[in-house]
Amino acid sequence: MRVHELAKELGVSSRELLARLEKLGLSAASHMSALDEDQIRRIREDAAGKPAPTPVTPEKTPPKPTPPPPQEASPSAEASRRVTVHGPVIVKDFAALLGLKPNQLIAELMAINVFASINERIELKTARQIAARHGFELVHEKKTPERKPPRPAPATAPAREDRPEDLAPRPPVVTFLGHVDHGKTSLLDRIRSARVAGREAGGITQHIGAYTVEYNDHKITFLDTPGHAAFTAMRARGANLTDIAVLVIAADEGVMPQTREAIQHAQAAGVTIMVAINKIDLKTADPDRVKSQLQELGLTPEDWGGEVICCPVSAATGEGIDELLEMILLQADMLELKANPNRPAEGFVIEARMEPGMGPVASLLIKRGTLHVGDVIVAGFHWGKVKALINDRGVKVRTAAPSDAVQCLGLTDVPGAGDAFMVYSDERAARSISEQRREAQRRKQLATSRRVSLDDLLRETSPEQKQVLPVVLKADVQGTLEAVEQALGEIKSDKVEIKIILAGVGNITENDVLLASASHGVVIGFNVSSQGGAAAAARREGVEIRLYDVIYELLDDVRRALTGMLEPETRENVLGRAEVRQIFTVGRRTRVAGCVVLSGRIRRGARTRVLRGEEVIYQGSLASLKRFQNDAAEVREGQECGIRLDNFGDFQPGDVIECYEIEKITAEL
Ligand code: GDP
Repeated sequence: MRVHELAKELGVSSRELLARLEKLGLSAASHMSALDEDQIRRIREDAAGKPAPTPVTPEKTPPKPTPPPPQEASPSAEASRRVTVHGPVIVKDFAALLGLKPNQLIAELMAINVFASINERIELKTARQIAARHGFELVHEKKTPERKPPRPAPATAPAREDRPEDLAPRPPVVTFLGHVDHGKTSLLDRIRSARVAGREAGGITQHIGAYTVEYNDHKITFLDTPGHAAFTAMRARGANLTDIAVLVIAADEGVMPQTREAIQHAQAAGVTIMVAINKIDLKTADPDRVKSQLQELGLTPEDWGGEVICCPVSAATGEGIDELLEMILLQADMLELKANPNRPAEGFVIEARMEPGMGPVASLLIKRGTLHVGDVIVAGFHWGKVKALINDRGVKVRTAAPSDAVQCLGLTDVPGAGDAFMVYSDERAARSISEQRREAQRRKQLATSRRVSLDDLLRETSPEQKQVLPVVLKADVQGTLEAVEQALGEIKSDKVEIKIILAGVGNITENDVLLASASHGVVIGFNVSSQGGAAAAARREGVEIRLYDVIYELLDDVRRALTGMLEPETRENVLGRAEVRQIFTVGRRTRVAGCVVLSGRIRRGARTRVLRGEEVIYQGSLASLKRFQNDAAEVREGQECGIRLDNFGDFQPGDVIECYEIEKITAEL
């Protein structure tokens, strides 16, 4: 029995059950982990024991669903000595943690019939056993994926945050990514035909850019434009639609260049990655090879002690599809996806077109709120009143809830894919917002400034946080790529950081540009050129492509760009000092100080301060400077002059007037 099956039986979430197992000191790496009889017995006892006051609870009785308060692990002498492991337990690292030599550990493992070499992983259960022998408690910490903060809502959007109590679970939104011909489209088709068309009598499958299936009474929405090009193109427009990226890898071919690229795109987006190992029906299928390739890429499969759920499937025979759906739901359960359904809808345009006889038709994905027929919306630059909503089965519906995809009729024009949409209270507001946006767009098109360039990148980010320069790096061959990557990694600074979001071999493609755009980064090419639509995309997206064939030039430029990202340091230079000898009143109120320049020079317009003893009694600028009756730009040491300051005339003989300038010094890395 696996963790998620027991969780279902006990009426708790897999996540909760894992936490309970952890508390009881039982090993279970994930919700897919198989449990032994002892574990099942103890967890059942634990679940049954706490909520039920009766001393004897038969095993069959379903336990109360209310989760008991977390129980403290029983205090023991060992608890004070803990070793913490993240991800898989590798012999070499584990030995170091326990203060053992690797061969000592290998010998100990052999003694309990576990045969593992120095670089191999061992099961958590085994590791716990060994740790206990040495008086340690082993703590297994899961790595939580780094999530990117969402882009801020457009300025015109009336951002209203939801209260936690208004949030309800919502279905996951899933995208298939992977190498060409590995079966993304076939999987989408297989899932759709198995779970959608067969159930909906009379419905005609519509291509609306996404579809929703039901499995075990839970919904899953699939975006049906697979591939990381579409995925990142949407993201470049600010539309982070995907919750879970399913990486499709053909079991016969294994990880291919575009698989790697897809991983980098998904990681740059900060979405959860799962793997579907497809084509397992083929004789040449080798799922274990795929898993070891994944492990090498840092995506250790769950059944190998890592975090990544891998499902063997066949789009051709349908094998494993149910399990894949189940795992997607489990992953979604872990992500605790929620949205407030009771608010005006917001979301994104998946795709849109002009349909003869119907006018503009836009496929919308609801992120939060509920969209109703009759609502007034603004999508991108256009507005409209929702005339009809049609779901992915071609059925007219009155409403669409969070994570639903629907076709919307009634917009005044065709919005762009990836545009955000939002419901507004009335037509006038909607019309004026869409006009404002069109106007803003016109201004933007007129402005020549580029959005992302090496030199001005990230100037707008706050100086407190460490600056990051996201880089998409392309080189002609793997060896060069690694060399450039390493050289870039050696540019060290505690103030700025280069983050290589994609490193690949080959010419610069439109995808590379889109990834850089989505991440507010730049594209750097070494011994490569840009191909196809890359240059046009770079112009459109305002992304800078820099091409080099000399490594020193590349490194110098990057260093210069990073230096430009630093706040310049400032230094004060005193230009000169003058002493007030006499005070004159000119006109009705203006007071002028008659001075002698003690040192340096006094300059008109310079920053000035007045010192009375140690105290600074004025700071401002030197409004006028006269030598005898004439205006002077500058007066030197030993000369006499008349000084008038901006908004200050309260001089006394003996005051010192000091002129200074602030020099900006380019910061060093
Ligand atoms: P995509 O480019 O990733 O969308 O790949 P497709 O879905 O177009 O599939 C590419 C080829 O692989 C097609 O000829 C499919 O028939 C075939 N294919 C897809 N899935 C399977 C599978 O599970 N088993 C086998 N034997 N062939 C498959």
